[in-house]
Parts: sequence; C-alpha cells; structure tokens
Amino acid sequence: MDGAQQRVVIVGAGQAGSRTALALRQEGWQGAIVLIGAENEHPYERPPLSKDVLQGRALPGDATILSAEQCQDQGIELRLGEEVRRIDPRARRLHLHAGRAPLHYDHLVLATGSRPRCLPLPGAGLDGVHVLRTAADALAIAARLEGGMRVVLVGGGFIGLEAAASARLRGCRVTVLETAPQLMARVVAAPIAERMMALHRGRGVEIRTGVRIDGLEGLREVRRVRLADGSAVDADIVILGVGALANDGLPVSAGIRCADGVIVDRYGRTSAPFVYAAGDLARHEQLWGCGNVRLESWENAELQAREVAGALLDRPAPERGAPWFWTDQFDTNLQIIGFGRARGELVMRGSCDDRSWCAFLVSDGRIQSAVLHNAGRERRVVAQLIERRISVSARDLGDIGRPLRTLAAAA
Ligand code: FAD
Repeated sequence: MDGAQQRVVIVGAGQAGSRTALALRQEGWQGAIVLIGAENEHPYERPPLSKDVLQGRALPGDATILSAEQCQDQGIELRLGEEVRRIDPRARRLHLHAGRAPLHYDHLVLATGSRPRCLPLPGAGLDGVHVLRTAADALAIAARLEGGMRVVLVGGGFIGLEAAASARLRGCRVTVLETAPQLMARVVAAPIAERMMALHRGRGVEIRTGVRIDGLEGLREVRRVRLADGSAVDADIVILGVGALANDGLPVSAGIRCADGVIVDRYGRTSAPFVYAAGDLARHEQLWGCGNVRLESWENAELQAREVAGALLDRPAPERGAPWFWTDQFDTNLQIIGFGRARGELVMRGSCDDRSWCAFLVSDGRIQSAVLHNAGRERRVVAQLIERRISVSARDLGDIGRPLRTLAAAA
C-alpha cells in the first residue's frame, strides 16, 4: 500500500507518543497519524511537575509539547480523554472504551508510559495520600502545600527528593522516609547520596534511611505514618514516591513479549509485526552495552520517539550515546551520564563540599559513568570521554587544573 494511505496509531499522548507524531511529520511521513491519550490535557512534559509546578512557579500547561494549533498544522489527529482497552495485533485493530468504534491501524506505536508503584500499606487510601505522575497529581499536591504543613515523602529516590525540596521551599515541614540504607540507591554511589542527604538536611529536611513503614493512620485524612520500630511521623500530606511500573497491560494481554515493559530492539520494534513501543514503557533488549534495561527518562522518550519514527520510514537508527538523566533539588543540578551504578573506582574531580564537582566511576582506565554536580557545562565532553571509551588516568581526571577537554583532545 502507498505510504500516504497508511495510518499510524499512537497509544499514549505523553512525551514519547507526541514526539513520535511530530518526528514522523518532520521526517516526511505522508499517511494519517492518530494520537490517543487517556489524559484530558494536551501532551506536556513531566519534569517540571515535581519542581516548578509544586513550587507554585509554573503550571503544567507551560510545558505543553503539542498544542491544538500544532496538531492542525501537522495533520495529527489528537484524541484526548480516550483510553485504549485492547489491541488485536492479528487484525491490526484496537478497541477503545464503550461506545467507541474499533480503530484499524497499519502501524501501532505503544507509548503508554509508566505508573507509580503503589504500596500495599494499611491506610494508603486515606485522603491526603498522593502519588506524583500527572498534571492533576501535581496540581492537587501544589494546592495543599503551605507554610507549616507537615509533608512526608515515602521514598528517597529522585521524585521523592525533588518533591521534598519543593515542599521545603514552600515552607513546609518535610520528612523523607527511605527503606534502603542510602538515598537514590538505584542510581548513584554512596558518597554522592551522602552529599545529597547533607544538602537536604542543611535545608531543614528530616531524612530517615533504613526505616520500615507499617502503615498510614488517620480517620478520613492521613495524620501520621507508623514505622515498624514503633515510632510515628506526623503528617498532613503523604507523597508516595517508591518507583514506577510499566503500563504494559495492553501488550501483555495481546501476547506481545513483555517483562515489566515491552521488549524492543534498537528500532523500537516489539515481538509483534507492525507494533512498536517507546518511552518509559519500552524495555531495551540491548542499550549502550547493557542488556535488558527500561529507562524512565526525558532523554530516552525523546530519542526513542525519533528511532521509532525512523524505523517506520525505513531509516537506519542513529547510534545511541550514553544515557543521560538530570534532577534539580534546591539549587543543585545533578546530571548522570552512563549507568550510575556501574562498577569501578570512584574518582572525584573537586570536593563534595564545593558547589561544583564531578564524580567518575572508572574501570580499566575508562570512565563507566559520571555524576556532574552543578557542572552541566562539562556534560558534552564527559559524554565524549565515556562514549569514545577514551583512556584516562585517575590522576588526570581528578586534577581540576587540567580541563577535561584536553583529555578528550589528547586521545
Ligand atoms: P508519559 O509521559 O507518562 O505518557 C504516557 C501517556 O500514556 C500518559 O498520558 C497516559 O495517560 C497515557 N496512557 C496510558 N495508558 C493508556 C491507554 N490505555 N490509552 C490511552 N492513553 C494511555 N526525567 C528526566 O530525565 N529528568 C527529570 O528531571 C524528570 N523529572 C520527572 C518528574 C516527574 C514528576 C515525572 C513523573 C517524571 C520525570 N522524569 C524526568 C521522567 C520523564 O518525564 C518520563 O520518562 C517521560 O515522561 C516518559 O514519557 P512517556 O511518553 O513514556 O510516558
């Protein structure tokens, strides 16, 4: 069939879905594009939700990815507030909620993202207990943050710590409860986590690691968090930030290969013909030297959208660089390049007590991953050192008198 008569249906109008639609048009896709999203808002970026939106400095609509005008200009049919209930890869058809006719597709892109992991705790359904994923979640929390309010974050990962910083900046009394012995345990080495803990404590956030939570208490509204050691933390608001699970119900029930996420190759192709996946939902078979990874990051959603669009247009996928992720907490910007928990010797460039420093994990004379603390200007050169596997000595890396670009240039 002529490409101009083919229809791509994209399920999930978040970052990966809407960027795929835009990339398809930019790359010259002539056929129809239908983008279906369960939320009512025009597609928006999520990173500001836990930062500027909670701090009351922005609205989710300030970070819209795809406006009504763009849809019209680009010929993208955006269907908001609609949920796809079932897909039938054999018939190349998908089924929406009751009252909607089934929809045929020639190519299907699944971009349904991920959802916050729930804790099966007594009291998790009380008023005042929140998760943070959508614009609606962020607005509901932001409306309640005011000076003196007691806010408890369950989970000391990025989302929990960003929300903690935002609540503190609004004058709330904030406690972070983390089960692991360190913060951000999945992504950074212990000395970096300690630095972030010091940052939060210095700003008045109470942090307790290695705690187990027994339940949330209150009559209708949450009033306290009960810990396994018998103590309790008073709370007016509780935010659960304990990780996310892939929204892979549709592909699982359609028999597409999944394992907390749809398994995809470097073109975003799934095990079903004509079906692709992108963004938080996708689990990469192989990514940048690492097998079986699912990335929940802004960068991955952007890149995979372009890879899938390229695959639909039979273009080769460009090589991926080292994965990149950032977080903003108080006045600290942390950027992680590579897989943050790679093995290796920790080499510091600058001291953790400085405002700006870099930390590298080095093995066999090569940087495996890096954390840049208020040093985003070094991102490009550090990515080069990692991606080109440039041989470096720990002494040179740690020498702040020696610009990093000279290490890259010397190779
Ligand atoms: P989403 O943007 O979640 O989009 C998925 C969409 O699919 C949703 O709108 C959902 O409603 C819809 N959907 C699901 N099921 C269906 C269905 N059956 N039918 C129709 N629609 C459906 N990354 C960074 O790198 N740096 C950061 O600082 C950062 N901060 C973040 C802060 C927050 C609060 C959050 C939540 C994420 C943050 N991220 C950050 C991660 C980044 O935003 C995500 O990785 C990115 O949004 C993933 O895009 P996605 O399109 O895969 O999923």
